[in-house]
Amino acid sequence: MSELHSMLRTMKTAHIDAGPADISTRKQRLKKSIALLKDNYTALCGAMSDDFGHRSHYQSVLADIMSAIGALKHSHDHLDEWIKPEHVDDIDGGIQAWIQQQPVGVVGVISPWNFPLNLAFGPLASIFAAGNRAMLKPSELTPRTSALLKELVAQYFDPQELTVVTGGADVGKAFSALPFDHLVFTGSGAVGKHIMRAAAENLVPVTLELGGKSPVVVDSDYDITIAAARTLTVKTFNTGQICMSPDYIMIPEGSESAFQAASAEFIEQSFPSMIDNEDYTTIITDRHFARLVAMLDDARDKGANVVSLAPQGEPDYDTKTRKMAIHLIFGVTEEMDVMQEEIFGPLFPVKTYTQLDDTIEYINAHDRPLAAYLFSDNSANQDKFAQHTTSGALVINDVMTHASLNDLPFGGVGGSGIGAYHGLHGFREFTHAKPVVVQTPQGESGLRLRAPYSQETLEAMTSFLDA
Ligand code: NAD
Repeated sequence: MSELHSMLRTMKTAHIDAGPADISTRKQRLKKSIALLKDNYTALCGAMSDDFGHRSHYQSVLADIMSAIGALKHSHDHLDEWIKPEHVDDIDGGIQAWIQQQPVGVVGVISPWNFPLNLAFGPLASIFAAGNRAMLKPSELTPRTSALLKELVAQYFDPQELTVVTGGADVGKAFSALPFDHLVFTGSGAVGKHIMRAAAENLVPVTLELGGKSPVVVDSDYDITIAAARTLTVKTFNTGQICMSPDYIMIPEGSESAFQAASAEFIEQSFPSMIDNEDYTTIITDRHFARLVAMLDDARDKGANVVSLAPQGEPDYDTKTRKMAIHLIFGVTEEMDVMQEEIFGPLFPVKTYTQLDDTIEYINAHDRPLAAYLFSDNSANQDKFAQHTTSGALVINDVMTHASLNDLPFGGVGGSGIGAYHGLHGFREFTHAKPVVVQTPQGESGLRLRAPYSQETLEAMTSFLDA
């Protein structure tokens, strides 16, 4: 038996032997996670920055540390209410019934590099609240962060509660083949398919948090300057390396120059410099950087009009520092790589439309996105867009706001994922809702099933059917 198998077996045995984790154990695990992040956030942010090349400290504190602590604290503060058994009233014949919230057991978590702590502790906030133990496999693309996380988890947790396994795709492959009680994967759709196949061998339930091309649509009534500023606020965050980052934008025909001017003004104000700007994050690896440069070249070669928003006097991109400016790409066609793949970087295709219906049709002709963003003050258009497009989430007049509201389910649909977590929805995702029924001493409902079957009951049933 492999080392991973025996680790999992030990944790499963500990889970069964200890019985379901009570509220205080669950809260302790949540508190230990919070303490780990609070006590070590400087070192963790340093490790993330070293892994990226340069990672904005502000972004790391906000999106990896604070948001993870927020999710853990939310679970801690709501657990008493979530954990209560749900009683079912008014059942005929005096039967009592309730739904018991039972931990599933040991959950596997595979996380990506783009928010290495948020996407490890975010799922753990739900997994621990639900009374489970976990094995975590962070990304090999953030090696320093993953190594530090492994070391810290060993300091703060009993290895039977939470264990970190480091390694690349090979380890990921072996990890996803383990007979967990549930497996959560956050990453690309391509790897997501391998995960689901591997999990199917053991019939392990999966939560797949994937990515995709999240569209932004600006209605003709909406102020394009506000739409550009709100959209680029998120597109520049982590330099577009976010699963629900705006992937492309659709604006009314004729508003291209207004959008370009508003975008340029936003960049000038937010990022007057790029290469030496501490707020501007690098592209994670040379391979990811080269891919983005190739996408730009491909768009240019196929006839797009590429507009770089690099600050004056600075290059469009710099191979040495792996910093890359926002590029608006006008005149895109479906053949271009930027319209074929999730971009995951600072390239921003701009499409135009004449009727809002065209945008709905376009979105529906593609994979269901993780998020859709509509800028519109027209309530009929808001409603139509909400009803006729399907995405993991819809945000109106802003971008990505949904991810920080702990009471909303977070997840994709179709190509962007399966299942959802955050808050109560996460608690339920990793909890088995077990119906428990207590029969009355007379046990009358069971008697209907017992032979010899009575002609009288049969007639009562058939007269109901024939009525
Ligand atoms: P990835 O799919 O390349 O890797 C994710 C994880 O899977 C890593 O830990 C990796 O080691 C592991 N892995 C790789 N090959 C594997 C295999 N064959 N079997 C098992 N595990 C394997 O993703 P990434 O590049 O780290 O992250 C970027 C992608 O993640 C983007 O598509 C993005 O949209 C998506 N994402 C989604 C969310 C979300 O919450 N929905 C959040 C962040 C990122």
